[in-house]
Formats: sequence, structure tokens, C-alpha cells
Amino acid sequence: MSARRASDYVLMSNRNFFLDSQKQLREIADILKIEPEILQELEEPHRVIKFQIPVQMDNGKVKIFFGFRCQHNNALGPYKGGIRFHPEVSEDEIKALSMLMTWKCSLVDLPFGGGKGGVIVNPRKLSRGELKRLSRGYVQGIFPLIGPENDVPAPDVNTNAQIMAWMTEEYSKLKGKDTPAAFTGKPPELWGLKGREEATGYGGVIILKKLQQIFGFKPKETTLAVQGFGNVGFNFTRFAAHDGYKIIATSEREGGIYVEKGLNPEQTLRCLAEKGRIAGCYCIGSVCDLSYGKQITNEELLEMEVDVLVPAAVENVITKENAPKIKAKYVIEMANSPVTATAEAILEKRGVKAVPDILANSGGVIASYFEWLQSKQKILWEKEKVLKELSATLEKSFKKVWGLSEKEKIGLRKAAYVLAIDRVAKAMRS
Ligand code: NAD
Repeated sequence: MSARRASDYVLMSNRNFFLDSQKQLREIADILKIEPEILQELEEPHRVIKFQIPVQMDNGKVKIFFGFRCQHNNALGPYKGGIRFHPEVSEDEIKALSMLMTWKCSLVDLPFGGGKGGVIVNPRKLSRGELKRLSRGYVQGIFPLIGPENDVPAPDVNTNAQIMAWMTEEYSKLKGKDTPAAFTGKPPELWGLKGREEATGYGGVIILKKLQQIFGFKPKETTLAVQGFGNVGFNFTRFAAHDGYKIIATSEREGGIYVEKGLNPEQTLRCLAEKGRIAGCYCIGSVCDLSYGKQITNEELLEMEVDVLVPAAVENVITKENAPKIKAKYVIEMANSPVTATAEAILEKRGVKAVPDILANSGGVIASYFEWLQSKQKILWEKEKVLKELSATLEKSFKKVWGLSEKEKIGLRKAAYVLAIDRVAKAMRS
């Protein structure tokens, strides 16, 4: 029998990710006494498509990429969710993430349903021209299914404002009219939202400050480890450091750094851009200045002695294997589904307070909603207004979740899911 390849394990873990999402839904449906026909509709997406994207590569040859778009539920409004470009994208992963989007949009009272998309690709191996043709090809593959009132995609892992600009342009071209509200996460000069780039990280820090108010910890004495230093991780560390929190570790795919006295996010970003690896940031060649920073692995980061752990990279990083070794008192889930269902039970038993992803990282989709409104109405908000409205929406949602969790003596995730699924089910009934 041939040995299993690494990609088989990814597919298996994505299968479990989707099955866990369904299990979680059934548990809440049981509490809310949701009718079987509504549950049946929610257990699977309305539609999932897998399509070929032929791209002319720079060497003149055509390469076929595979794309997905999944539309989970639109009872509350158009499907909404990001598009990721990653070598490990799979149908099950996209299905699970689209369901998560339905709950997230519902929890924070947006008029959106849930969707998600992706392409199996390592974008780092493509030239700018190839990436542009792939982005346009993705839109050609799903054009009839999307649009401002049907399904509104946005950036996610390894996609950004430039990719959204190419996609919006392609959509408008196919539609025959300028349609900026078809995508969110666009550059500000193309009906993008001022503040969208930092919205998710900023929102996470609002959640951190709510915990601070409740548990009375002091920023300067509070240590944080942030896994992932992309859009979300960087902006989270930037706003947290600005508020006086001590970020003692961060990482990216290749590994991370530990800086005992607290790291400087901007300096780390500059260094990452220069060297391509965070782990190399406080080293010259193979010589590291240990008085300043020390290289660590992603596994070590998760198990560090810190007050707050912030997974802000990819899903399923806290598992039943490492959950017993997590030393943080609080976990703020900035990535989508960073904690598996089994790991969550272990953390809860050990008294670790975890703020669920559908609340903690909802700043991004809230900002996307503001952008969608502006693109439709052709008006522009100033960044101060965006961040103020974002804070108000998040604080209101946090209050609801915290209140239900205290009242019913249930965990924050269960409280968030009860509120979110109840709103969707009510909309479906009506
Ligand atoms: P990004 O591509 O900008 O950054 C991802 C970061 O994670 C990078 O630093 C990358 O090196 C690191 N990473 C990738 N694979 C890793 C691995 N196996 N181990 C450790 N680190 C790894 O993506 P992002 O936009 O910052 O998104 C991060 C997470 O937040 C994702 O789960 C995404 O779905 C979620 N999220 C993003 C937004 C948003 O507005 N961007 C909103 C909500 C949720």
C-alpha cells in the first residue's frame, strides 16, 4: 500500500473541518428546536461549484487551475465571503468556511448570507501578469452567479485589494456597466473603503479591550503572541501595540520570533519585506542577536507562556494534541476556525476563555458591508467614520454574546452560535 501524501492529510482534515461545522450546527439546532427541514437546508450549501480556469502562462503555455465558489445560505441577503488563493484549498474547506460566513454575518446583524471561494494555487509562484489573468479567469468562471444583489466576494488568504480591482474590472466588463458593488476589499481609489485593510485587525483589538474591561488586566502588563503576520496579524499587532500591549511573539508560515521586551510591528513588517522571513528578522546570516530576539517555530508560539494567544493565520492550528499545552488565559480567534471542536472542549475544561472567530474577526465583513453600501450609493466615508461605526457594531455584538453567555452559563462560542443561527432560522421561517 502506498504511503499517504501530505495532501491526503490536508483533505482529511478539511473533511473533518466541514463535518465538525455540521456537528456544531446540529447541536445548536437541538437547543433552538429548529425544524428538520430548516436544519436540512442549513447542513449543506445551496450551491458549490468547482470550475476550471485556463490561464496563459508567461511561457506561452496554458495551465489549468481549479476554482471553487460555494454559496451556503442567503436567507438574510446576498451571499458574502472571501476568495482565497492557496495550494491547499479544497471543496470541504470552502464549504465549511461558507457556513461560518452565514453565522458571522448573522451574528453582527448584516443583511448578508454566507459564501466562500478559492483557487488551488500558490500565488507566490506566479508572475504579476499570470496572477492578473488567473483573477480575471476566476470571475469569468462564476460570472452568472455573482453580483451586488446575489453574491459579493472579497479578499481572503493571499488575495488583496489589487486582485479585487482586477476582478471588479472583469465583472464590470462582462456586465457591460461599471459595477463596483460586485466586490469588496477594493483599493480606496476604486470605490474601496478607507480603513478596510486594517478593519479586521482593528476589530480584534476592540474585542481585546472588551476583555480588558471585564477582567481588569493592564495593557502594559499583558503579553500577547500572534500567529500569522499578514493583513490580520500585522494590523492586530499594530493596534494592540499602539494601545500599550506587549506583543512578545509573532510568526508567518516559515516560523517566527520571540522578543522578550515586546516587538515593534512596523519594524517587523519592514524586516519581513526585506528578508522574506520573520524568523530571520533579528539575525544576521546564521548569527542571531539573542539579546533582542529569538527564532521560534509556529508550534512553540502557540504553546508560549503568554496572557493572550491570537491565532491569525490559518484554520485548525489548535488541536487535541496541543490544546493541553496552551498556556494563554485568553484566545482571540482572528483566523477562521483556528481551534478544532475537540480542542475547544479541552480549552474550555482548562478555563481558557476563547472569543470565537465569528465575533472576533467580524470587523472585516462589517467593513465590507460599509463598502458595499458606499459602492452602491456612490458616496465615500472618511476613515474615522468607518472605524467609529465598526467599533459600535462590534461592541453591540460583543455585549449580546457576553450577555447570553453569562445568562445561560454557556461558552462564548455557543452563545454566539445560538444568536447567529436563531436569526438565520427566523429569516428562513418568514
Ligand atoms: P494573509 O494571507 O494576509 O496572511 C496570512 C498569514 O498567515 C501570513 O503571515 C502567512 O505567512 C501565515 N501563514 C500561512 N500559513 C501558515 C501556517 N501554516 N502556519 C503559520 N502561519 C501561516 O491572510 P489574512 O487576510 O491575514 O487572513 C488570516 C486569517 O484571518 C485567515 O484565516 C482568514 O480567513 C482570516 N480572516 C481574514 C479577514 C481579512 O479581512 N483579511 C477577515 C476575517 C478572517
